[in-house]
Amino acid sequence: MRIGVDLDGVVADFTTGWTTQYYKDFGKQINESDITEWGLASPLTHFKKEIDFWNWAKDINGNSIFRHLPVYEDSVEALMEQIHFGNEIIILSSKPWWSINDTLLWLGENKIPTKEIHFTEDKWKIDCDVYIDDAPHQLKSFTKKTNEKLIIRFVRSYNRPIEGVLDLHHWKDLTSLLESQKL
Ligand SMILES: [Mg+2]
Repeated sequence: MRIGVDLDGVVADFTTGWTTQYYKDFGKQINESDITEWGLASPLTHFKKEIDFWNWAKDINGNSIFRHLPVYEDSVEALMEQIHFGNEIIILSSKPWWSINDTLLWLGENKIPTKEIHFTEDKWKIDCDVYIDDAPHQLKSFTKKTNEKLIIRFVRSYNRPIEGVLDLHHWKDLTSLLESQKL
């Protein structure tokens, strides 16, 4: 079984990473519960447009924000467990081009068990049996383009339930969720 896994908001704790750096640089504390919509510009941050956020995030002391993100609890262990079951982990990320070098370093340093990595916005084009993502637009895209596949929303404060999409709250529940679907 091929399991397509997004990085930011699923394995990589982008929220903790950028809010910690934002507090250091601008002195404003933003909590995960404050992030109730998809988007990083005003009113969440002082940045007027998304591009302003990314211009800040792409160069923080010479590296991008993606270089030092923490991993979510139990995520690497849950992915390793799937490898032991004989499944494959396919990384599907739509990160911007300037983050790729940092992301590849990050994948290695955090020992993410994968042999296949795709950087693309059209994730549904990469053939997988299961897709795990947190982005509302990606989840909708999966349901439209590949609705015979198992689509899993990693539940975060900024996404909502979608018809035909299963919910995963904690990485340690992945195995039982997949088993309940007889995959
Ligand atoms: Mg994501």
